[in-house]
Amino acid sequence: MFLTRLIYVSTITDKFGTTSLEDILKVGRVNNTKNGITGMLCFKDEYFIQCLEGSRDAINQTYNKILTDERHSNVVMLEYTPIDVRDFNDWCMGYIPTSQFTDPLILKFSTSLPFNPYQLSGIGAHQLLLEFKKNFTSF
Ligand code: FAD
Repeated sequence: MFLTRLIYVSTITDKFGTTSLEDILKVGRVNNTKNGITGMLCFKDEYFIQCLEGSRDAINQTYNKILTDERHSNVVMLEYTPIDVRDFNDWCMGYIPTSQFTDPLILKFSTSLPFNPYQLSGIGAHQLLLEFKKNFTSF
């Protein structure tokens, strides 16, 4: 079974409440550990970017659940690719909050401010997540 990486972006809906982020991280971390999935979840303004790494079956099953989650919408897949090595093997679901998105970092990967993750390429989104891994502590 191939190791696979999937990156998507999405936007919160009015179903996203004050405890939703905490709930998503709690459930996601338990499930991802059980399913051999690693990765990172970023939250900026109303947007999510998430990278999932694991077996193709585990990634597909988890993504199908994420797609139907009403706490977000406009879920757009930026990258889905076989990989040889995981980038986030230490994190079942690392979390990068809004405060870590600085303007210079956003501009490095975007044509302009404010941040709009739907304008990222798959490679750009992957590189952005690797920058977070290099520079910041995950929460
Ligand atoms: P159930 O709890 O039975 O869920 C049934 C349905 O209710 C699902 O459609 C579910 O999405 C929805 N739901 C569950 N809890 C709530 C709630 N508190 N409020 C509103 N609707 C709810 N899950 C992972 O396992 N791994 C991840 O990496 C992951 N990342 C996520 C990233 C984002 C941005 C979001 C929004 C969700 C993420 N989830 C993740 C959660 C995922 O969508 C499912 O809610 C979770 O996997 C449990 O689904 P279930 O069908 O097994 O369980």
